Amino acid sequence: MATDYDVVVIGSGTGGYVAAIRAAQVGLRTAVVERAPVLGGTCLNWGCIPTKALLEHAHALKIAQDWKEWGLTIGQAAIGLDMNQVQARKDKIVRGLTSGVELLFKKNKIDWIKGNGRLVGGGKVDITEGQKQTLVAKKEIIVATGSYARSVPGVEIDRKRIITSDEAIGLVEVPKSIVIMGSGAVGVEFASIFRRFGSEVTIIELLPRLVPVEDDAISAELERSFKKQGIKVLTGTKVTMAKAGADGVDIEAQTPDGKTAKLKADRLLVATGRGPVTSGVGAEDLGVVMDRGYIHVDREYRTSVPGISAIGDVITFDKPGHQQLAHLSSAEGIALAERIAGREFRPINYDQVPACTYCDPEIGSVGLTEKEAQARGYDVKIGTFKFGILARARISGDVEGFVKIVFDKKYDEILGIHMIGARSTELVAEATLALRLECTVEELIRTIHAHPTMSEAVGEAAHAAHGAPIHA
Ligand SMILES: Cc1cc2nc3c(=O)[nH]c(=O)nc-3n(C[C@H](O)[C@H](O)[C@H](O)COP(=O)(O)OP(=O)(O)OC[C@H]3O[C@@H](n4cnc5c(N)ncnc54)[C@H](O)[C@@H]3O)c2cc1C
Repeated sequence: MATDYDVVVIGSGTGGYVAAIRAAQVGLRTAVVERAPVLGGTCLNWGCIPTKALLEHAHALKIAQDWKEWGLTIGQAAIGLDMNQVQARKDKIVRGLTSGVELLFKKNKIDWIKGNGRLVGGGKVDITEGQKQTLVAKKEIIVATGSYARSVPGVEIDRKRIITSDEAIGLVEVPKSIVIMGSGAVGVEFASIFRRFGSEVTIIELLPRLVPVEDDAISAELERSFKKQGIKVLTGTKVTMAKAGADGVDIEAQTPDGKTAKLKADRLLVATGRGPVTSGVGAEDLGVVMDRGYIHVDREYRTSVPGISAIGDVITFDKPGHQQLAHLSSAEGIALAERIAGREFRPINYDQVPACTYCDPEIGSVGLTEKEAQARGYDVKIGTFKFGILARARISGDVEGFVKIVFDKKYDEILGIHMIGARSTELVAEATLALRLECTVEELIRTIHAHPTMSEAVGEAAHAAHGAPIHA
């Protein structure tokens, strides 16, 4: 196999593999170095896909548990869950997708070099384990080595009792009780999964509200719904100690009033964020500027060392920081591959990146929150509409949540759209396009939304923004 390429990508996650495909499409000879036995990185193997598969099982269970409401005749035996089948179905979906990436590599004539990639300077990457060799990147090396689940002081992950999402996705026994540290997307998604699967769930968040990056109104609605579902929510609370024993985990946490709360659970899931994977990559040795362990890049993904770029979870910018999202890493990969090929560089507008959280109820959001818009000096107005008013919501029984539009009074420009409720993760696509096209509220009002759909809430929120919702 030749060792000379135009582009060498280290890491085959949603950043790396998409960058490689785009690079090949625009005529660059491309190799991807991946040290895991499968392609696809965190998202396909340990992140987005397995969690969403588990959430779909939770949804199926919800329908089955409400069998009387739906007129189903399955009520003879207690409705339960076969976790082996749940895991088998999830694994089959993951396998299908990762082998799909392998096929795409073959189709685009991308070489998968199996092993650990290490930057050694001069446009070269050493494969230090696996298929040992030295690759030459004539144009650019792309570092897309992603992230790992990290803990906080006082909490040591043992991967048995004190676990991360990597272990949580593979549990074949539903824990009787679980404490989840952190209420970002990963934390609240697992809270929804395990609560529906039958666990006693407690979620502990250091900041004063759940999903702290979302609009305040979304956090309040999620907390209300979680409490209704029997999920215990402790916000403004700091875990100070966790000790794993034979019969569970002892946890101590400092509550907002300064007292120490003692908790015990079968498992503690640490979902406090993800750190960059740079060990063994050799970036620091080459003098690549780092920032708290992340690779620092400019807005065209160049590191401080010519010929080395980076994308995805492993990067950071000057303020504000960088979101760790699969679709964002892919968008960065596409923009970067096009730049390397000498095409026009199309910068990403980081105010227009949609974020989806697949907890129950789902959250979809894009653009500025009400507070962020105020901080930027806009004359901020909002319009909201509750899903529960809609016919479609009543038909499917998904009556929780709302759509909230944040807009600037001066130009009627939409600055952000935030929603919580069933199918929000799909509806956010329209919101993203609206922001991309610098849509006004008036234009959203004139956009016809099909009936009966959940998307009518987006149109109605626009009507509400101008003070005249039709159905409220
Ligand atoms: C539980 C969970 C759920 C998530 N759900 C979502 C979601 O629903 N939607 C969403 O947008 N995002 C989600 N994410 C985040 C998403 O998975 C990441 O943002 C995305 O995977 C980042 O892609 P990446 O290419 O930067 O890195 P990664 O996907 O982490 O890929 C990096 C790859 O590089 C390889 N690698 C590292 N170092 C080397 C080396 N030296 N040599 C060779 N190979 C190397 C690794 O093995 C890995 O395969 C979730 C994450 C988690 C943990």
